[in-house]
Parts: sequence; structure tokens; C-alpha cells
Amino acid sequence: MNPHTADVVVVGGGVVGLSLAYQLASQGVDLVVVDQGPLGRGSSWAGAGMLAPPCALPPTDPLEVLRDLSVRLHADWALALREQTGIDTGYRKCGGIEVALTEAEAAELEEMRGRWHAAGIRFESMAGADLARLESGLTSGILAAVHFPEKAQIRNPWHVRALVSAVSARGVRLLPGCAVRSLVMSGERLVAVETEAGLIACGQAVICAGAWSERVLAGVGVTVSTPPVKGQIVLLDAGGLAPGRIVEHGSQYLVPRQDGRVLVGSTEEHAGFDVRTTAVAIQELLDEALRLYPDLEKATVETAWAGLRPGSMDALPYLGAVPQRPGLFVATGHLRAGLQLSPGTAVVMADLLMGRTPRIDLHPFRIEREPERQAPLFRS
Ligand SMILES: Cc1cc2nc3c(=O)[nH]c(=O)nc-3n(C[C@H](O)[C@H](O)[C@H](O)COP(=O)(O)OP(=O)(O)OC[C@H]3O[C@@H](n4cnc5c(N)ncnc54)[C@H](O)[C@@H]3O)c2cc1C
Repeated sequence: MNPHTADVVVVGGGVVGLSLAYQLASQGVDLVVVDQGPLGRGSSWAGAGMLAPPCALPPTDPLEVLRDLSVRLHADWALALREQTGIDTGYRKCGGIEVALTEAEAAELEEMRGRWHAAGIRFESMAGADLARLESGLTSGILAAVHFPEKAQIRNPWHVRALVSAVSARGVRLLPGCAVRSLVMSGERLVAVETEAGLIACGQAVICAGAWSERVLAGVGVTVSTPPVKGQIVLLDAGGLAPGRIVEHGSQYLVPRQDGRVLVGSTEEHAGFDVRTTAVAIQELLDEALRLYPDLEKATVETAWAGLRPGSMDALPYLGAVPQRPGLFVATGHLRAGLQLSPGTAVVMADLLMGRTPRIDLHPFRIEREPERQAPLFRS
């Protein structure tokens, strides 16, 4: 195999690029994944790994269609990856609870209940003693709550490690620590990717470079907005005091791992490419954690980190071919939901690259769209 040629070059080895590589390699495509840093250490490592519950009725909103496809695939991928690599991705249906602490939040939850019901999502409304039986450590200040028994999680660093192992075993060439400098065009057609380690001639390239995608594409005159949206997380060791389920309050949450650790997340900040953690964010996250789950005051703080979610113009990802640039494709902009949307993204993008009709309509995700859509069923 010539290292300087490939059918497909995937630019960016985060969860999106690696999932696409996993899917394409299973279909015999010769490909290279190039990342400027270590594989999977961007937003994909920093995320919390929450997965929304599936819909029992076919969704109509494009994001929900992609989400439903993806969360169903996660269950299959977890099994397949464990079988192929021996690595447990930490996928488990741990359940989750969304809580309202004010009248306005309770009204919002009430409105969402109608939409979740219409989508056939399994949930139960809870209050008082029933809620206390389910999660005895929750604050007594909860006005309304909804329990989703099918909400799930993955340990995203484990999931990414499993993907790396699986794609290497399938012959994918991985180039970590090798930045892509430019996309090389012949006329309008993409013909190669120029990396720090030299040129890779290819028939197709897919830009999965997360928040950096905008920069990579700007080099060939393609304008796609992927602003970095910083999220900070604090990791607690709560021993036996942790909640049993994910607890969500608006955009903030507690994600319990099985080893007694709890992720407390997350902020949403526009701070450029700065991934330093800040005292004010950590204080806000801890205040919220103790408000929701007072027992956590006895937990110890292990560490804190930040990641850069790839934003988009309207919180929908960009999936598809770049117009007037044959051979060039984009899969990015998944914002708060890239971990859960990654398997669905991989299968539809693989369909597209291989000349098949993607199993879901990608028109709403085209990069040249006008922003317009309704609020999603879940924040992440
Ligand atoms: C705090 C936080 C919590 C989150 N929680 C969740 C959650 O619970 N559930 C969920 O679904 N999602 C969650 N997310 C969002 C999720 O992490 C992202 O949407 C997802 O990881 C995006 O994946 P990606 O592969 O597109 O980007 P990344 O993981 O950022 O990967 C992009 C890669 O491209 C590489 N790259 C960039 N430029 C170049 C270049 N020029 N050459 C080569 N390589 C390049 C980078 O090094 C990077 O590795 C969370 C994110 C954060 C920050």
C-alpha cells in the first residue's frame, strides 16, 4: 500500500472521523486518518458521553432522525467494538432524570412532555416520594421531574480507544500528530491533502476537524461556520454518594460513572480556542452540583478540564458534499451532541462517499442551507 495515496483521507481523528473510518474500513475502502494531535483528544475526549433515549415513533425533525438512528446504532456498536477489540466502551442504559426547580422550568418541562410523548419516547413524570425513592439524594427543592429509563451513556475516552483499535485492525492508516496544511485542488476537484508529513493523493477527503473545520475549509474558499463552544467539566470522586442516574437541570448535569466518579458539567462559553479551566466556571459547576445533589459536598475533586465543541450556524451538523468541489465532503458542527450522533453520521456519510443514497435525507444538513429549525428534543 502506497502511504502517499488513499481512496479517502479523513481530516480529524475525533469521534466523528474515527467512526466514519470504522464504517468505511468495514466496506473495504483504503483510507488514512490524519490528526494534528493525538487521536480522539479533542472535544471527543472532553465530552460527558450522554446518549438520548430512542423514539418509538419515526421522528420528523431532521436532527431527531439522525439522533434516533445514532442512539440505536450505539447499542450495536458497543457490542461489535467489544467483540472486535476487547475494549468495553462503557455503554450502558443508566437512565436519566430531568428536573425543574422553578415554575418557569416546570412549565418548560410540561411543554417538552407533549413533544416527547408525540415522539414515542419512554418517560415517566415523577414528584415527591416517588422521585425520592428513585434518587434519594436529590434536593427537596424539585418542583417537577421526568425520568427517562432508556437514557444511556458511554465512557467516551474508552469508546474512542476502541474505535482506534478497531480501525487499525482493519488496515486504516492513522497519522496522529500530523496537521493538514491545505487541501490540494486541480481546478475545482480535490486531488490531494497536504500534511506536515507530505502529500496524500486521494479521490475523496472528508473534513471532520471539529471546531477547526472552518479553518481547513477556508483555505479552498469554502465558508462554513464552526465556532468553538467551550465546555468545562469537573470530575468528582463521590464514592457511594453518587446518584444512580444522569441528572439534568437545563444545560447542567451530573453524570455518574460506575466507579463512583461523577462528571459535573458543563459550561457553554465563546472563548476562542482557549481550553484552560477557570475558577469562576468551576465554582458555578460545583455550586450547581451541590444544589442538585447536596450529598456531593462530601465528594473529593479529582480534576477539571475543558473541550471545544464544534458549533454551527444553527446547532445542526453539516453533513454532505461541498458544492462545486467534487471529492470534498464535510461532517462536522455537531455541537453538544457529537458523541451520540457519531455512528449515524458515519453510516450516512459512508453511504454518500460510496455513491449510495444515504438512508436519511441529508438535505437539511447541507452546508449551504439557510438557518431555520425548531428546538431539539434534548440539549445533548
Ligand atoms: C464539556 C463537553 C461535554 C460534552 N458532552 C457531550 C455529551 O454528553 N454527549 C454528546 O453527544 N456530545 C457531547 N459533547 C460534544 C461532543 O464532544 C462533540 O460534539 C464531538 O466530540 C465532536 O467530535 P469531532 O470528532 O467533530 O471533534 P473533535 O473531537 O474535536 O475532533 C476534531 C479533530 O480534528 C483535529 N484537527 C483539527 N484541525 C486539524 C488539522 N488542520 N489537521 C489535522 N487534524 C486536525 C483535532 O486535533 C481533533 O482531534 C460534549 C462536549 C464538551 C466539550
